[in-house]
Amino acid sequence: MATITNPQTKIATKGYAAPALGEPLAPFDFERRAPREDDVVIDIKFCGICHSDIHQVRDEWGGANFPMVPGHEIAGVVAQVGAKVTKFGVGDRVGVGCFVDSDRTKTDPALEHYSGTAVMTYNGKEKDGTPTMGGYSDKIVVREGYVLRIPDGLPLDAAAPLLCAGITLYSPLKHWQAGPGKSIAIVGLGGLGHIGVKIAHAMGAKVTVLSQTLSKEADGKRLGADAYHATSDDATFRKLAGTFDLIINTVSAPLDWNAYAALLKPEGTLVILGVPDKPVPPIDAMTLVFGRRSIAGSMIGSIGETQEMLDFCAQHGIVADIETIGMSDVNEAYDRVVKSDVRYRFVIDLATLQA
Ligand code: NAP
Ligand code: ZN
Repeated sequence: MATITNPQTKIATKGYAAPALGEPLAPFDFERRAPREDDVVIDIKFCGICHSDIHQVRDEWGGANFPMVPGHEIAGVVAQVGAKVTKFGVGDRVGVGCFVDSDRTKTDPALEHYSGTAVMTYNGKEKDGTPTMGGYSDKIVVREGYVLRIPDGLPLDAAAPLLCAGITLYSPLKHWQAGPGKSIAIVGLGGLGHIGVKIAHAMGAKVTVLSQTLSKEADGKRLGADAYHATSDDATFRKLAGTFDLIINTVSAPLDWNAYAALLKPEGTLVILGVPDKPVPPIDAMTLVFGRRSIAGSMIGSIGETQEMLDFCAQHGIVADIETIGMSDVNEAYDRVVKSDVRYRFVIDLATLQA
């Protein structure tokens, strides 16, 4: 197993960054830390474009730090390993998701992403205060405990979106026990939503897509949906009242959650995944009280659960439906994601950075 020969050397890295708020992403050279003995150096091959990248580059959630190299759906190959790395070797196919460190001495590792100690992959700060930079770049240095193994059956390009979109859907579907006999609705057929349809279907649930229009109905059914309805049609909300055990809302814009909660059976749960930049209308207590219904949130998943999700996806042949783009196409891709004009995830081919 090749190890790092000169641990003092920082890793020269090419990437794309948003230089400042309101400016387009542009080429940006920087250095990754000199690898430590428990670090893995990864040659990034592909990185998905998550809507969260756009929210953060456009500072729609507040707290954006520039320059910002986004990207937390990272797939690549191990280039070097530190002397104490035991789980990975040079040439292994690996992924990195939404966080690159946490404090497992202070938290249950299964809940590490909710602990407040997780170091986000970009637009965050390492424990020593160094700003983190994400996967729109050709290399990344990550502690081995935060690196995922990508199973052999999964192609790196279409597997990349599993590192955020995949785990973000797998975790609540498992937590709220999607499976045979359960009726699940996925709201929004975008990057998150389309993977949610595939995973919920593979878990054995009855899956319904609630999309703004019927324009993607054929795709939804091909991905595994049993039913497909347009939310622009008021009749949808009348017809489906009291239907679902679980509704997963992946929409990036503010919706009236009351209208969706009313589609739940008694004791059903509406899970919020999308994080809009504007407030939603007030919740009507009646909708929840009459039916012991819940509204909950969910965010990504732990490293352990992310590995479990990748193994589940390999077992069921699940990857994202992707449109591969060159690095210089990223600004145009952002505009297309905001217009829901992508089938269903853009993935950047980092080889194009060298061009
Ligand atoms: P995306 O690819 O843009 O998909 C969002 C989908 O929402 C669209 O495809 C569209 O589906 C629907 N939509 C968009 N605008 C809408 C509007 N104004 N009204 C109704 N529906 C609308 O985005 P994504 O990458 O899947 O991310 C979705 C959201 O989840 C973002 O807010 C993102 O930040 C968040 N997110 C959360 C987590 C987490 O851990 N909780 C993780 C990743 C991302 P239709 O065309 O089918 O209607
Ligand atoms: Zn994401």
